[in-house]
Amino acid sequence: MSTVDVQRVALAQPDLEGNELKYVTECLETGWISSIGRFISQFEMDFSRLAGTTHAVATNNGTTALHLALAALGVGPGDEVIVPTVTYVATANAVLYCGATPVLVDVMPGTLNIDPVAFEAAVTERTRGVISVHLYGIPADVVAIGDICERHGLFHVEDAAESHGATVGGRPVGSFGDAAIFSFFGNKIVTTGEGGVVTSNNDELTDRLRLLRGQGMDPSRRYWFPVVGYNYRMTNIQAAIGVAQLERFDEMLGKRRAIEDRYRAGLADLGEFVEVPEAPDGSRSVPWLQNVFLRDGDAARRDAVMTGLSAKGVDSRPVFYPMHVLPAFLSDAAFPVADDWSARGISLPLHTGLSLADVDRVCETLGAVASTR
Ligand SMILES: *Cc1c(COP(=O)(O)O)cnc(C)c1O
Repeated sequence: MSTVDVQRVALAQPDLEGNELKYVTECLETGWISSIGRFISQFEMDFSRLAGTTHAVATNNGTTALHLALAALGVGPGDEVIVPTVTYVATANAVLYCGATPVLVDVMPGTLNIDPVAFEAAVTERTRGVISVHLYGIPADVVAIGDICERHGLFHVEDAAESHGATVGGRPVGSFGDAAIFSFFGNKIVTTGEGGVVTSNNDELTDRLRLLRGQGMDPSRRYWFPVVGYNYRMTNIQAAIGVAQLERFDEMLGKRRAIEDRYRAGLADLGEFVEVPEAPDGSRSVPWLQNVFLRDGDAARRDAVMTGLSAKGVDSRPVFYPMHVLPAFLSDAAFPVADDWSARGISLPLHTGLSLADVDRVCETLGAVASTR
């Protein structure tokens, strides 16, 4: 980074201002650096409280948490699992890891969350379940999705990787499905460097999650492996960072909300150019990245706006490409909402290291770039 220029506004950065260093140092000094140690059980207990569940099973990342959840639910070859076409690729990849088929469905305008009507229309006799994704911090309609699952005898996994602390009807996301996953990658609301967790209220499923996470070793007979499992364990060092993160969760979320409020004020002045997504009635989102959607234009114009932002020192990224345009998931089906909205979407910087002046600068820059064609 040049010291002469104004600092670039980074898209995301971890907030490690609490006890992270102290707790990691404890791991190093005591030698508990692998997947046994006091921080792992502490982190699982603390996180289950945040998610409002009886259980939390920590993993080495969010992708393995997804695979573990599907494996524990018995997903295998011949099965179909319904997935929204707009998501981070890990959601759909996890279905492929099980040898099953991800069936893509369209999303809702603005939130880009799974459309419950499209979900129900895609159910076949091969459908085993659905993964609802709370994308960009905005809760999916988990109540409608849960009802449909009950009616058709399907499992419901929530992908809450981007939505730590979001609620529906006052209840935390991650507590609605048979299981849910969260990610603790470096740009997520809570980080452990790399890391993930599966939350659940189901005792039997949780036993299965723990079994498969630890190579399938029989809990009452050491080095006896009755099933094929995985090594998806979180380390004590990761968990040490996570425990420190959760101590400051309310504080960090408060900072994020103040930044989001400033964005809302600044972006309201740009209403002629951009739309800002809203959480549906009855739910409360959490600020992850700040999405905006250009009111007119296409992917080429969106890319031009991002290039303009970058030239003025503001990082941004495109909203996720829908899965149905990626080589591994190509589909001829129609996804009109996903095609339209994802092409116009830009994710702007949001993290606790931003000042309100930084937010003003992002909004002003966006206004300047979006108003010139
Ligand atoms: C980050 C993310 C994941 C995967 O998490 P990793 O920890 O990066 O493996 C899964 N789903 C969504 C929606 C994500 O944003």
